[in-house]
Formats: sequence, C-alpha cells, structure tokens
Amino acid sequence: MEIEIATIGGYEEVGRNMTAVRVGSDVVVFDMGLDLAPVVRRDLDGEVRAVVFSHGHLDHVGAAGVLAERYDAPLIATPFTMEIVKGELGARFAGDLVTMAAGEGMDIGDGLELEFVHVTHSTVGAVNPVLHTPAGAVVYGLDKRLDHDPVLGDPIDMARFEALGEAGVLAYVEDCTNAGRDGRTPGEAVARARVRDTLRGVADTDGVIVASTFASHVSRVSSLVECAREIGREPILLGHSMETYARTAAHFGYPEFEDVETRGSRVGVERALRRVRNEGREDFLLIATGHQAEPRAVLPRLARAESALALGAGDVVVFSARVIPDPVNRRRRAALDRRLERRGVRVRDGVHVSGHLRATGHRRMLRALEPRTLIPAHQSVEGIEPYVALAEARGYERGEDVHVARNGTTITLAE
Ligand SMILES: [Zn+2]
Repeated sequence: MEIEIATIGGYEEVGRNMTAVRVGSDVVVFDMGLDLAPVVRRDLDGEVRAVVFSHGHLDHVGAAGVLAERYDAPLIATPFTMEIVKGELGARFAGDLVTMAAGEGMDIGDGLELEFVHVTHSTVGAVNPVLHTPAGAVVYGLDKRLDHDPVLGDPIDMARFEALGEAGVLAYVEDCTNAGRDGRTPGEAVARARVRDTLRGVADTDGVIVASTFASHVSRVSSLVECAREIGREPILLGHSMETYARTAAHFGYPEFEDVETRGSRVGVERALRRVRNEGREDFLLIATGHQAEPRAVLPRLARAESALALGAGDVVVFSARVIPDPVNRRRRAALDRRLERRGVRVRDGVHVSGHLRATGHRRMLRALEPRTLIPAHQSVEGIEPYVALAEARGYERGEDVHVARNGTTITLAE
C-alpha cells in the first residue's frame, strides 16, 4: 500500500504547521496553523478522512477557520484543544467535531487507526497523534518537551512511546524548534520555582507588578496566580486571550482559575485598572497579554500610558516568555523595553522555560521510537540542520531515512 507524507507547512519556518499523510486513497491531515491559507495551493490527492489537531497553539489551529471547511471530514482533538479550535471556526462551521482523550484510539478508515499519546508542552491538552497504518505507525511529534513533573496534568507518556517503538514506527515527524540547544529542557516545576523566586524578589515594591506570559500556557498562568497570592497580592488576568484560555481552563476544572478576576474587553480591563489605582497598586499582580509587545495588547498600552493605570517608577514588569524570533517581534519588544526603562519601570526578563525538546530529549525520543524514517519540522531550513546532525550521529542518513523537506513536497514512505 502506498503511503506518502505531504509537507504542507511548517517545514521552512516556526509556525504555519500542516502535514497530511496519505495511505492508499485515504488522507489524514494534522494541524492547520495560522497564516497557512496562502501556502495550501493545491488539493490533496485522495479522500480526507480526518483533520487532527495536536494542541491549541495558533501555529497549529489558527487556520482552522479558513481551511477546515474545504474538507468533508471530522475534526478530531482533545476536549481542551477542541474548545480552542471552536473559537477559530466560528458559528458557520457545520462539520463534525469529535473529541478523543489522550490514551485513546479510534478507527478512521479502512485499516487506519488514530491514537492520541499524552505529551507535555506549553499548553494543556497536548498530544502527539499517531496514525497506525498497515506498514507501521506514523507519529506526528509536534510539539512537546519531556516533563516528568509537570505542575498541571500528567507526565509525558514515555511508556507508550516505548511500546510504539517496539511495535514498529514507520515515520516520525519531529519538532526541531530547540534541536540546536544542548542539554535537556527543564520541566514546568523549574519554571514555577523561577516565577516564585522572581516574584519574592520584587514583592516589597510599592508599585504594581505586571507579569506577562503566553495566555495559552495554562500551567504558567496558574503559577503566576499561585505565587501572586503567596506574596500577598491579588492576581488579575487581563486581555482578550487571557480571558479565552482562563475561561476554558476553568471549564475543564483547573481550580486555580475559578476565583480570579479576569477581564478581556477593553472596557473590562479599564475597570480593573481603575480598581487597582483606587485600592492601592502595591496590593496587585496583573497577569497581562503583551509579552511580544503586540501594540493592542494590555502591557504595551500600560507602558504607553494609554490606560487608567500608567506604569512608572516603583512598578515592576516580569516577562515569563521568550521573544518569538521574528524581526517584527524583536523590534517591537526592543521599543517596549526602552519605553519601560525611560519610565523607570524595573524589568525582570527570561523567567521562562521552553516547551520544546532540546538535543537530549530528541535523543531520548529516538531511543524510544527507533523510527525507520525521520521527517524534521517546525524550524527554518537552517534550524533543521542541528537535528539532522543529531540523527546522523545515531546512524541515520540524509536523503535515505532523514528527509529534509521544503513546504509543499511529498515524501514516499511505502509503495
Ligand atoms: Zn506548540
């Protein structure tokens, strides 16, 4: 039976992820990332049986609203991820939405089974989907790190990856984001300790503390909430995406989010900021959008003094995120840093741990899965090279069993 992988997006950049696997005449699509629509130029050969989402980050679900309706196929995701996908689809979407928990599987075509393996990443509800074909398993490995002590949810299911390896893995599509970094990615417990240490260090300031992280990083937001309370400050979540994810997290029973004031709309944010100003800024820790200095997000507006609360001397800003390496983000963030400095705001940067595997984790995954074929993804063309070197050191060969693909190519796995 002919098996092919179509590398639609995410093979020349970090973002815009979409991959299709064709087994005979059946096609399964994995992820539909933001800004992807322009690169999906041609129809997929074969009948699309399912569109599967690995997790709720926008570079994996952000094009669902544009692309999902092109295919007459169910959308499949974990319950948490599906809530995020629904937000992208809008009310017009009429297709089937199917949820499946990590650790479960379902038939999706003739001799095809889809399985979700639980992984740990910088959002909750993340899985590595596995497509079981007659020629072996295709493991879609975007995105994860190996966290054995996560602050929310279960550790990564390494036992299942080992079992898949023993049964035979035909191909492994891998997240190469941090493949060029040595060592292993620390777990989220380390990030929580850094958050705690940083916040205790600035706890006695007379001003307000504003912390910013990825709204989708539910574990990190929960750490900020918890550590805010530990230092005697009331946490308030501010910004549209903070509200979206906090509401979803509360819906799925994460208790940290239940009693936290959360404001998404501009009017709601202003109301909360007036309360902070009136009741005393030294009593609050604001968890706000804007770590990438997006102009309309909350933190940049506070820095530009466009809100009821303007940041100034005595206030502290904590960045619990990295700058996404893109020229626009870098320029915006540098401008935000200069503005904060001019206003006399103290800044604590880099209070963060990545959600992606480094070299040690990649080697661990190769040992567990022993895939016949490797398909590196989720990086620029240059960024994939460290992963190729790491694979070659383990006996893989470029062009033979490591396929470095551009967007829009097809790799034949079995004929
Ligand atoms: Zn991700």
